[in-house]
Amino acid sequence: MATNLTMPQLGLTMTEGTVSQWLKKVGDPVTKGEGVVEVETDKISNVVEAHEDGVLLQIMMQEGESGPVKSVMGVIGQPGEQVAPAPAEETVVAPTISSVVPGVSAQTATASGQKSILIVGAGPGGYVTAIKAAQMGAKVSLIEADKVGGTCLNVGCIPTKALIHVSSTFSAIKEQSAKLGITVSGMDVDWAKAQQYKGSIVKTLVGGVEGLLKANGVAVYRGRGIVKDAHTIQVGSKTLTADCIILAVGSEPVRIPIPGADLPGVIDSTGTLALTEIPKSFVIIGGGVIGIEFASLFASLGTKCTIVEALPRILPPIDAEITRMVRADLEARGIAILTDARVESIEQAGASYTVHMNYQGQAQTVEGEKVLMCVGRRAMTQGIGLEEAGIVLNRGKVVTDDHFQTNVPGIYAIGDCNGKLMLAHAASAQGIAAVNHIMTGRDSYHAETVPSCIYLEPEVASVGRKEEELQEQGIAYRCGTFSLSGNGKALIEAGGKGMIKILADAKYGQILGVHIYGPRATDLIAAAAIAIRLEATVDEFTSTVWAHPTVGEALGEAAEAVFGNSIHWPPKKK
Ligand SMILES: Cc1cc2nc3c(=O)[nH]c(=O)nc-3n(C[C@H](O)[C@H](O)[C@H](O)COP(=O)(O)OP(=O)(O)OC[C@H]3O[C@@H](n4cnc5c(N)ncnc54)[C@H](O)[C@@H]3O)c2cc1C
Repeated sequence: MATNLTMPQLGLTMTEGTVSQWLKKVGDPVTKGEGVVEVETDKISNVVEAHEDGVLLQIMMQEGESGPVKSVMGVIGQPGEQVAPAPAEETVVAPTISSVVPGVSAQTATASGQKSILIVGAGPGGYVTAIKAAQMGAKVSLIEADKVGGTCLNVGCIPTKALIHVSSTFSAIKEQSAKLGITVSGMDVDWAKAQQYKGSIVKTLVGGVEGLLKANGVAVYRGRGIVKDAHTIQVGSKTLTADCIILAVGSEPVRIPIPGADLPGVIDSTGTLALTEIPKSFVIIGGGVIGIEFASLFASLGTKCTIVEALPRILPPIDAEITRMVRADLEARGIAILTDARVESIEQAGASYTVHMNYQGQAQTVEGEKVLMCVGRRAMTQGIGLEEAGIVLNRGKVVTDDHFQTNVPGIYAIGDCNGKLMLAHAASAQGIAAVNHIMTGRDSYHAETVPSCIYLEPEVASVGRKEEELQEQGIAYRCGTFSLSGNGKALIEAGGKGMIKILADAKYGQILGVHIYGPRATDLIAAAAIAIRLEATVDEFTSTVWAHPTVGEALGEAAEAVFGNSIHWPPKKK
């Protein structure tokens, strides 16, 4: 019996929607769960899936036409079946709806035979991609040369945050106990135990991922994958073939080629995470996110840290005003920061190292028991057959289109190895988008919603556009800021340090960027990312009720400030 495809209700307040695109023509076969029509509101677009197998018998709402929720957009039935007049609303069979992300339509590719996908690299890009592809019905093989979880789980995000948890807990007790009336004596850090704690978290998570891969039926091959052609990967003596290949080979630290770069005490981020003792002094070459996080971590444990950065400012990806606040706070914690400082050589001087540099035009040296070289990462694309397979690289990074497909059809590259954005969650989201493209031909990546986080004391997080970008692009905007000294929870937890900045389109008040420096910033940024995804306005932000007392309330206050109306901040003097 024929069933109707009806306009779904995509949100509590939605009363009508518009057909933006039919993904099938009248007469096309459709399978249960397959995306048939895309609908949109002024906030969101979504794919409506077929409720059962059949053919698309009739289109009743053309592209561009709008209709109320539950109105009939088309009819699915068996070939040759007569279409009855549209039934009354209560007898309409609601179609199933794919997830909020347009293009996610499970099973599409499996209708005409199972798709097979080979994924090279099991970091947060590769393993998430493998699980998603398996969920969508593909036959998946995952190849990993080292440990499942990649940089992120083994020598990146997770171990650094475990040690940062140790250092920030230590410094919170040290800095705040007297003020809070807590008496502490004999406080110290047992670094070996801290390292054990880090190791146990990593082990738990790696084991969890291995279990998930198994539970999803992903075949894992251990060894280095070499690309042979658009459908073939060689792993040791095994030759694996599939319809598509997704490269997720990640990145590794680089060293600047200067005399002394290979001395034993000159280490990278992986070496720093494996230190068996807390160094007394540390010279950190590179004032990017990783270098600054390590400086904050070790400074809290009592290490004398010096950051040496070649550019005029640290943390270039972050809002300039917040960067200035962060720099002042790091310096107040005793971290020396040298910008416009170009390192020229390193020499060993007994048990310590001397770093020679050109600091703002003058020769200068700084000493450290260890030197962390933290100047960037390069894609791990060498020697794995990419050039031989005709894949275009740009300075070692795999060049892709917006679907993360390389110039060789059927070969995709996601995560650090394409160099678009070296963040774990970006790698995972790109992998899911690549799988969607393979399985449904459609896209699901929203780059503007990818947040950046820095785990300092307090934290930094941002999403969307920066003020500098809006100015460069000539976009008229309004800016609302709220100092966390006016927020009760931030005052209780972190002395009211920090601020929230919201950037909104000047005409419609659409939120374009959110920048937070304060406690819980890295969790709060999720609300801002959703606001950007849903194209929320300042008005929608301020009319949302924020729980009290929370740091989140300050998001509402910063949104109020866009039009000069913060409740807990005095008005600007006219
Ligand atoms: C110290 C540090 C801290 C970080 N902190 C954060 C953070 O807080 N938040 C965040 O978002 N990001 C952070 N990052 C960045 C994050 O770790 C990376 O962006 C992320 O791991 C990239 O994921 P990926 O899957 O692309 O690559 P990777 O995680 O590097 O994984 C690639 C995998 O591929 C394997 N591989 C490589 N070549 C082959 C081959 N030929 N055959 C088989 N396997 C192969 C590797 O062994 C590796 O396991 C941090 C990085 C570092 C170094």
